[in-house]
Amino acid sequence: MIDVFNPATGEIRRSVAEDTPVVLAQKFARAKEAQKSWASLSLQVRIQCIEAFRALIEAEKPILAKVLTLDVGKPISQSLSEIDGARARAAFFVEQAPALLREGTIRQTGNTREVLAYEAHGVVVCISAWNYPYLVAMNVIIPALIAGNSVIYKPSEFALQTGEHIASLMHKAGVPEDVFVLAIGGGSVGRELTKLAGDAYFFTGSHATGVAIAQAISSRLVPFGLELGGKDPAYVADDVKNLDAVAASVADGCFYNSGQSCCAIERVYVNRAVYDAFLPLFLKHVRSFVIGDPFDAATYLGPVARAQHLDMLDAHVADAIAHGGRLLLGGARIERAGNYFEPTVIVDLPNHARLMQEETFGPVKGIIAVDSDEEALQKMADCSYGLTAAVYSQDESRGRSILNALDTGTGYWNCCDRVSPYLPWSGRRQSGHGATLSYLGLLAFVRPKAFHLRRI
Ligand code: NAD
Repeated sequence: MIDVFNPATGEIRRSVAEDTPVVLAQKFARAKEAQKSWASLSLQVRIQCIEAFRALIEAEKPILAKVLTLDVGKPISQSLSEIDGARARAAFFVEQAPALLREGTIRQTGNTREVLAYEAHGVVVCISAWNYPYLVAMNVIIPALIAGNSVIYKPSEFALQTGEHIASLMHKAGVPEDVFVLAIGGGSVGRELTKLAGDAYFFTGSHATGVAIAQAISSRLVPFGLELGGKDPAYVADDVKNLDAVAASVADGCFYNSGQSCCAIERVYVNRAVYDAFLPLFLKHVRSFVIGDPFDAATYLGPVARAQHLDMLDAHVADAIAHGGRLLLGGARIERAGNYFEPTVIVDLPNHARLMQEETFGPVKGIIAVDSDEEALQKMADCSYGLTAAVYSQDESRGRSILNALDTGTGYWNCCDRVSPYLPWSGRRQSGHGATLSYLGLLAFVRPKAFHLRRI
């Protein structure tokens, strides 16, 4: 059994029985069988189901947002935005799939036609995270289903009711129950899924779990994708004109969703020429964030989703201070029910402190002053994660030269914490393997098949 908590109150909402290995094996066998008839439907029919799913999400948005807020403590305004983002991702795949998945003649040579076609993998296993449960699920389940796969979807145990809603809307939209299958449970159920003969695995979550999954399936040589954690840096150069707007953008990138975004700004480097002016502006914006009940429309900072995560936030603060860090704001849990932590800003800490190296995934941020772009680049690069990086500067070429030199999947110039369905989302090094979204994120769910067709 797993207990489902309300992060804003600490109360247990329900206790849920996890799927046993026998139940998982039965679900898998049904998904394997059902995939054949799903793949044999026309692409248009599958797309119609996804369109219906998108319309249902829109129609039920208020209730879905409430459940999401109840599940993970996300402020209600941010839950509503997440659901809008999920609809946009579904719309992107619906729009792109017919052209991208169409079989085509690549070359006619003599009496031989060279044709490229695409086939679904079979059963795609999707093991998902809780922090943006709609967005990270859509990246996988929508293109997988459109491409003709069946999907075993294991939502995070911390976003279970949201996962149940996604499944019930998918079935209501016409996707058969054995084609979109919900697996219920925590890490042990995820582990069990890696023992089944899934034809492809797509995972969103922490680096440690991603490595465990890759190791568990490696001998089977099946395709897999890993969207993992980040320790994303932002650099404020000395030529920025509107420092207040930059401070507002960086503060939002740091604290949106209580810092629980894979691409949240986790560490900030500020050129010493603007450092003294930047800090008070940054603190002003952070102080303006309303902390409170996530169901209140004015709330910007809610609780963190998992109670045990508070221990890690404490540890990162303590380690930063032990390394000489100076607390400018916050630093402790908030004395109220639920998993609340003060928005926290620490300066004067070294780049090797845990707060500047390990994923903190919460409302605790470190800021370091640097003397030059070279020092900023060296400190930004000194980290094992490679998801995104941001540079704020008036000069695009200056920004690009730093972003080009960094080994990350995404670079932001004068913006941050932004995902577009039209661009690939990919992490390098400890941040992941493969890409979701964009045309790559659709083609990840099919295998190419080459035909050499000769008239004789
Ligand atoms: P997590 O690794 O703890 O859990 C993720 C999922 O894996 C859950 O469904 C969990 O039940 C399951 N799981 C746990 N152990 C498993 C195992 N041994 N085998 C198979 N499945 C297992 O991560 P989380 O706390 O849910 O998510 C937060 C992490 O996700 C952060 O690191 C965040 O940066 C990352 N994330 C990355 C992206 C991205 O796009 N790169 C997006 C969202 C979140």
